[in-house]
Amino acid sequence: MDYGFVQERAREIRARVEAACRRVGRDPAGVRIVAVTKTASPDVLPALHAAGIRDVGENRWQIARDKLQHEAAALFEWHFIGTLQTNKVKYVVPRFGWVHSLDRAELARALSQEAVRRGVTVQVLIQVNVSGETQKHGVAPEEAEALLRLARELPGLSVRGLMTMAPAVDDPEAARPVFAALRELRDELQSRLSLEGLSDLSMGMSDDFEVAVEEGATLVRIGRKLVNP
Ligand SMILES: *Cc1c(COP(=O)(O)O)cnc(C)c1O
Repeated sequence: MDYGFVQERAREIRARVEAACRRVGRDPAGVRIVAVTKTASPDVLPALHAAGIRDVGENRWQIARDKLQHEAAALFEWHFIGTLQTNKVKYVVPRFGWVHSLDRAELARALSQEAVRRGVTVQVLIQVNVSGETQKHGVAPEEAEALLRLARELPGLSVRGLMTMAPAVDDPEAARPVFAALRELRDELQSRLSLEGLSDLSMGMSDDFEVAVEEGATLVRIGRKLVNP
């Protein structure tokens, strides 16, 4: 597979992120593009690097494993973005600096324990099920505070913010209320817990990343638009 097309795609996505930032007066430097490579082969990694991408996201350990063996893997910061089973924590912690899908106390404790054992810190985001769709993972908005309070007391974890997935819809504008609600929840938690550093919002995918950036996303997770031929 020749991933030469990735360079042009990355350029286009970056231009669209910058335009979205301009519309709302944000600095584009505050938005990181996380390339979601789950459907691509490990050969995509050098192409992403050449395109200036430095963050890669994977949602399953089994699929990430092959890519992590590629020599280019070390050039990236790795983000775990899918449902994480506790028995996979021992594999994920040494390779992934970020976990966007923290959704339960048991997982927070397991991540913390493994991070301490390895002498590392895992950057975590609490996944919130804003839209209330039953098949989506994440805590209900009213449960986020309890998990946040627990996670920030655990050694080995640095709580960076919140993550959500919007429902798949044809019109990206339909995702706007979901993204706005995540930002409002973050602002509320930040002031209620007098928290500094709850600054990240992981939201927006191929079809709705511009709306997410307008609503405050700092990490956009882009798969298909970047790596699918
Ligand atoms: C696959 C995936 C993405 C990327 O989705 P695209 O629509 O391909 O951009 C983002 N976040 C999560 C959690 C995913 O599983």
